[in-house]
Parts: sequence; C-alpha cells; structure tokens
Amino acid sequence: MPRLDPEQQAALAARVNYYRDLGVFDFYRRGDAIPESAPESVLAAVEAGAEESMPKKSSIAPPQELFVAGTPIAPEKREGALKAIREDIGDCTRCPLAFAGRHTIVFGEGDPNARLMFVGEGPGADEDAQGRPFVGRAGQLLNNMITAMGLQREQVYIANIVKCRPPQNRTPEPVEANTCSQFLFRQIDVVRPEILVALGSTAATYLLGGKASLSSLRGRLHEARGSKLIVTYHPAYLLRDPRQKKEAWADLQIAMAELGLKAPKRPAGV
Ligand code: URA
Repeated sequence: MPRLDPEQQAALAARVNYYRDLGVFDFYRRGDAIPESAPESVLAAVEAGAEESMPKKSSIAPPQELFVAGTPIAPEKREGALKAIREDIGDCTRCPLAFAGRHTIVFGEGDPNARLMFVGEGPGADEDAQGRPFVGRAGQLLNNMITAMGLQREQVYIANIVKCRPPQNRTPEPVEANTCSQFLFRQIDVVRPEILVALGSTAATYLLGGKASLSSLRGRLHEARGSKLIVTYHPAYLLRDPRQKKEAWADLQIAMAELGLKAPKRPAGV
C-alpha cells in the first residue's frame, strides 16, 4: 500500500472522525472478487449491494419488519422444523460467500427448545472445516462462558449471522448478511429463546436492524424477533483484550437474571 503524505493523512483522519461523529466505528474492506461463474442472481445482488462495503442503516434489513409472529411451534416439532430450514438452505448459492472458498455450511446447533441462544458473526476456519459453530479458540471461550453461567453447551442454541466462512474472516458484507440472516431469523422463530445474546457488533447490527456502537448497546435489554436481546463482546475480541471479560460477564449476568439462573462467582478464565 502506498504511504500517505502528511496532507493525505490529515484528510483521512478528518474523514474517520467524521464517520465516528456519525456513529460509524467499523470499516470494512471490499470483499474478494466474485468469479464470473457465479449465477446471474448473485452477481445482480452484489451489484445492488456493493456500491458501499460498509453497512449503511438503509442496507440492513430491519428484522422487526420481517417479523411475522406465527403460531409457536410445539416443542416436540422444533427439531423437525429446524431440519426443514436446513433442507431449504440446501447447497446454498444465494450469496457471494458460496463462491468465496467455503467448505461447509455451518447451520447452527443446540437444543431446539433452548431458553438461551447465542448469535455470532460467521464461521471461521475451524467451523468451516467441522461444520459446527464456535469450535475454535473463540468457541472454547464461549464454552467457558456457558459453563460459568451454570449451563452446558448442549442446553443452549448457537448460530451465526452468516452460515458460510467469509474469506480471511472478514466481516460479512450487507448483501451476504441480509441474504443469510433470513434463515437465522427462521431458526430463532422456531426455537423462540427467551434470551438472545448477540456476540459482537455484526450480530447486534443484524439482529437489531441498525448499527450502533457496542458500548451504547451493552448492559441493557433490547428486543429482537420476540426475544429479549443482550449485546456483548465477541469471544474473539475477548481473546485479544481479556480485560473486557469482566464487562462481558456483567452482560451475561443480565441474561442469567432474566432466566432466573443463580449467578455463581465470576470464575477464573471467563
Ligand atoms: N466466530 C463466529 O462469529 N462464529 C463462529 O462460529 C466462530 C467464530
């Protein structure tokens, strides 16, 4: 990348500060080129969504608008309902991530009747290889968080905003997240968790249908698709900055209070 001269640096800093004032904190690199072999529908979707690679408020589908409160699915039918969603997804080619090197579609897993559901951003390399969410280092920390809440991983449901690994683990583009999250919303509507936990900014953005800083969203209850929603740090971020674990634990305690779970002492390593 060419070095910027001082004038260009000052102009760039002013631009970044301008976006900060607007409440935009994250910047994204445009995704990798989509091969010409991608179907017309995918190319058209990319064209429509690609003039800005940063999620604009208007480029995020508001989940409330899409939310049609259907009759709750009986607990014994939920496993089958989730299977039907997986079948609908098929060998998905609806968005560019299908052509960006994914090996496995990571649908999500857990108790179809879970009271608590965690939503991350998208699969990483380990998840892409194993076809399961949160199985790498961030997953290990998420497991510790779940255990610290007095639960087992099998008792919760875990999924992501996108089900295919973004190349180089970049943030999903709006066209990818909007396309894929429709299936996540259907999973939420089947499981009907009492509490959703958005892990990180991408999950919060697409569950809430708008972008705001994580610090402005943390520490209080929101609502998404008929469930209460807590926003906290992504475990991968906590691995990079373990000092924030205390804050994440405070967020999880809000979820625990809502679920009537007794808060044990904050354990080491979480
Ligand atoms: N990060 C995520 O957001 N999701 C996963 O499944 C793994 C890592």
